[in-house]
Amino acid sequence: MHAPSSHRSSGNVDAQGKHGADHIAPDCAGQNFYAIDRGLRDLLPLYLEPADFRQLEPQFDRLGALSGGRLDELARIADKHPPVLHPRDRFGRDEDWVDYHSSYREMENVAFGDFQFHAMSHRAGTLGMDRPLPAVAKYALQYLFVQAEFGLMCPISVTDTSIHLIKKFASTELKDYLLPKMLSGDVAAMWKGTQFMTERSGGSDVGAIETTARLADGEWRLYGDKWFCSHADADVALLLARPQGAALGTKGLALFALPRRLKDGSRNGYRIVRLKDKLGTRSMASGEILLEGAVAYLVSDAGQGLKQMMEQVNLSRLSHGVRAAAMMRRCVNEAMVCARTRTAFGKTIIEYPLLRRQLLKITVPSEQSLSMFLFAARAMDRANAGDKDAEAWLRILTPLLKFRACRDNIPVATGAMEVRGGNGYIEEWVQARLVRDAHIGVLWEGTSNINALDIVARAVGKSRAHRALAAELERLLDEAAPMPPAFRDRLRQTLDRALAFAEQVAAEPALEENARLAASSLYHITSAILMTWEAAQGGTDGRRALYARLVLEHRLSRQDPLAPGDGSWERAAAELVLSEREVAIADVAGLLEY
Ligand SMILES: Cc1cc2nc3c(=O)[nH]c(=O)nc-3n(C[C@H](O)[C@H](O)[C@H](O)COP(=O)(O)OP(=O)(O)OC[C@H]3O[C@@H](n4cnc5c(N)ncnc54)[C@H](O)[C@@H]3O)c2cc1C
Repeated sequence: MHAPSSHRSSGNVDAQGKHGADHIAPDCAGQNFYAIDRGLRDLLPLYLEPADFRQLEPQFDRLGALSGGRLDELARIADKHPPVLHPRDRFGRDEDWVDYHSSYREMENVAFGDFQFHAMSHRAGTLGMDRPLPAVAKYALQYLFVQAEFGLMCPISVTDTSIHLIKKFASTELKDYLLPKMLSGDVAAMWKGTQFMTERSGGSDVGAIETTARLADGEWRLYGDKWFCSHADADVALLLARPQGAALGTKGLALFALPRRLKDGSRNGYRIVRLKDKLGTRSMASGEILLEGAVAYLVSDAGQGLKQMMEQVNLSRLSHGVRAAAMMRRCVNEAMVCARTRTAFGKTIIEYPLLRRQLLKITVPSEQSLSMFLFAARAMDRANAGDKDAEAWLRILTPLLKFRACRDNIPVATGAMEVRGGNGYIEEWVQARLVRDAHIGVLWEGTSNINALDIVARAVGKSRAHRALAAELERLLDEAAPMPPAFRDRLRQTLDRALAFAEQVAAEPALEENARLAASSLYHITSAILMTWEAAQGGTDGRRALYARLVLEHRLSRQDPLAPGDGSWERAAAELVLSEREVAIADVAGLLEY
């Protein structure tokens, strides 16, 4: 499943000589990230319509090969050659521009030209499809891409989500002006999008935004200072500003589209003041923007601005969950290769109980996030087709995935680094970048606290979306009949308790400090039920049911920290999970009985 890369064979040459390079474990470079991903290959036929899966599978395979190959090489280079801001031209004019390394430009060609990620949900004609791609396919492709390159996924995704907002909310005139450029597949000519919301006054507290909009001679002009602007040099940015005289707080915010260039080709009245020196996402330019009377187009009046912007935020949140799942998958693949090849004390390190436990701790959150994002994406497809229940599932699944998968990504990345040992800390191996990139997921589009509050206070407390989700999970448990009844009963009982806990926290303001715990419980039980259902479908890897039990035991059950755990069960589970053989339901059923 996780064959070592060609680095191994070049290492052998050294090993016969003097350098001992053969002692160093290989990495996943050169692998096809689709072909080696048993989970993804099993689940796509469950979550996609059969005809779509048949048509798109060659594209998954093609991107998997690119991701493990050329994109991976380019991503390594782009990370070491971050973008550079030129604030003025040689005549001293404020013609600011950002220079990117050719490696980044080549990745853009793959993303915006070849695969057309930005347009695939919005029009027919990408990847040979006669209609827009289903969300499941788009996010599966994002998942494959991000296993190689994380930074560029921000501009890709935010262009996609900007198109969504303009299509849905802009006037016909504005749509006619912007959409043909934004939906183009011509990388040199197309207009890419972005979203500037955060100011120094606060990212969580959006109502504190200070940017103002003034109407003069029939044109809106913006004044203010946007503090965090990813994809700073995008061709069009969606942003929130307060029209003069509008109410304070979120009620007074309107949504604007800000073009980088005016219709006559001249620069609009804003400057990228500087680029941020970031811990991760280093290939992509995040900057600070000073709005000095920039011309902008009104998308929605004050009062509707935040509501409409939240549609973009929610789409981004889902994509962030997918990106976390992708980086965790890369971590798992890398850790497995190391574990199966590195030797210490005369054995391969995968043979040691502590290392095996560490591998399970990396694998389970990764598999949980895979199931969660595919299920959420399918909910999106159904909601787009008018299914109101699916709309409710998506309402709660989105912040659940963003909150928990992005948090899990951090220990998973650190764990994978540790499996490689000291080399994992060295920047020429991918683990160091994975550790750096993992951290941004808990910040942008709302921190963990903000997402947990959204889940408990709004999705549970106001929308009651958890109840709609629970009804679907109950149905999936009924469908998972091949699984032992006692195991399914335990999942049902745990679901009931997680729902009651979330409702209690939502109902009692004094319990707010439990919001993250309650949100985590909902995430864990949802993923455990999904993985049980998936394992029960014919031909799926039986390991998924073991992952579900591991979630139950480690995330949803009381553990005594002063006594050994039930080692025998877990040793048997690890044996199956970490083996390279086929695992069927019959192999795991005994491990699900109580
Ligand atoms: C590299 C990078 C790129 C970014 N790109 C963009 C971009 O393109 N566009 C954009 O709009 N923004 C962007 N952001 C901004 C990002 O979304 C914000 O940093 C984030 O939303 C947090 O806002 P803040 O930094 O103002 O922190 P604060 O809002 O000041 O939060 C500080 C702490 O207080 C906590 N907190 C706040 N309110 C509560 C509460 N009610 N209960 C409990 N805890 C609370 C938060 O959880 C956090 O831990 C980017 C950030 C980074 C780092």
